[in-house]
Amino acid sequence: MALRFFNTYSRELEEFHPLDPEGKIVKMYTCGPTVYSRAHIGNFRAYVFEDLLQRHLEARGFAVHRVMNLTDVDDKTIRGSRAGNLPLQEFTAPFKEAFYQDLETLQIEMAGAFPAATEERYIAAMIAMISTLIERELAYQADDKSVYYRINRFPKYGQLAHFDLAELRPTGRVKSDEYDKEHVGDFALWKAWAEEDGDVGWKSPWGRGRPGWHIECSAMAMSLLGEQLDIHCGGVDNIFPHHEAEIAQSEGCSGKAPFVRYWLHCAHLLVEGQKMSKSLGNFHTLPDLLAKGYSGREVRYSLLRVHYRAPLNFTWDGLEEARQSLARLDEWLRRLWEAARAGNLQAHQAKTIADDGFAAALDDDLNISAALGHLFEQIRESNRELDTGIDSARALSWLEWWGRINSVLALEATETKPNEQIVRMAEERARARGTRDWKKSDELRDALNALGWDVRDTKDGQLVTPRVRA
Ligand code: AMP
Ligand code: ZN
Repeated sequence: MALRFFNTYSRELEEFHPLDPEGKIVKMYTCGPTVYSRAHIGNFRAYVFEDLLQRHLEARGFAVHRVMNLTDVDDKTIRGSRAGNLPLQEFTAPFKEAFYQDLETLQIEMAGAFPAATEERYIAAMIAMISTLIERELAYQADDKSVYYRINRFPKYGQLAHFDLAELRPTGRVKSDEYDKEHVGDFALWKAWAEEDGDVGWKSPWGRGRPGWHIECSAMAMSLLGEQLDIHCGGVDNIFPHHEAEIAQSEGCSGKAPFVRYWLHCAHLLVEGQKMSKSLGNFHTLPDLLAKGYSGREVRYSLLRVHYRAPLNFTWDGLEEARQSLARLDEWLRRLWEAARAGNLQAHQAKTIADDGFAAALDDDLNISAALGHLFEQIRESNRELDTGIDSARALSWLEWWGRINSVLALEATETKPNEQIVRMAEERARARGTRDWKKSDELRDALNALGWDVRDTKDGQLVTPRVRA
């Protein structure tokens, strides 16, 4: 089956073909976090979905050029920096750092670039775009000195969100309570400096001010990826107005359509039926969950296992299920390694297991439930083989097959090498066994178990592996 995705723009499943004439390079832009606090795992549902998408595209032979922005200037970052009495950059820096750490813990591939909105070159790009929009009468400076996008001049406005803006389109000039705008739907491209902005602001042809959030993404995407992108992602809350505005700005400037060929949006992570969000206070950060004893890959699995367009409920049971599924996976891998090592590894050659069911399921708009269903079905099958005994070569073949799947799932335990202390304890246990001191040997095994390691006695000696939790 051809690779296909559900495009928010058309509301249809469409076959995927990148713009690259050679069909190899995929230009992908993903809206990143606003760095005024630590991202919560609701945000990470979006980033894990984007990671699955990138990894699957790579597994299918595409070269993905991905950009993820960091929003480091907006109302919330300014408020935080003022409350903390810190310059904006100093206030946001630790949250950027924390974000990179969380990406690593969740095994999310690093984007090719993480541009931050306040970098001079992007501020310059935003100012240049706004100037072009004004020249084309797609934007205007209002009496409040801010610059707004004139949505009435962009007939496609509303098409991504499938909003009928007709009823919002008044004949005369409308004054909203907040702004001096021509139309209530006009959005800010440049926000004139106000008292509460403190020392945050840049010089511009329209006076001191700062960019609006939407123009940040258009400018960074186009500076780094060009005028047209293949894929743009985010959570469904980004569709309107953020992504709608990005289309209006980018196409308004470049004159090229479409700005984005495939729009992919993930449904929210919910807590008791409501979106997990900072403002509702119903959120967990990754460190919160790590402190409760869950691992990064357990959290990754729990966010990954439901189709990206289906809402996902965050529950502790969900995390427990993730733990159990991973334990099954770990136990299977341990058995395969044991079988593989039992023979002469050099003498055998793995035969590729041709089964492609996992990737084929993902080709269908990232159908992860079908893909995982297939994986666990194959694990059952291979466990049956292990029960009856398999040779080294067959075990290696399964491991090679898993390696291909893991390049997409990134769920294999990374801590597979025991540290020095563990090695010393295992050696001592081997000596105890050598002197038939069973009591000591058992005590050391229990101690190793308690530290998260399993130890097994094989004909080649001890095998120390990460402990598989039941
Ligand atoms: P923000 O920092 O609020 O701009 O959000 C960053 C990214 O996380 C955006 O793509 C949002 O759509 C996404 N996001 C925020 N909350 C959730 C949630 N509860 N579930 C899934 N995605 C979310
Ligand atoms: Zn964005």
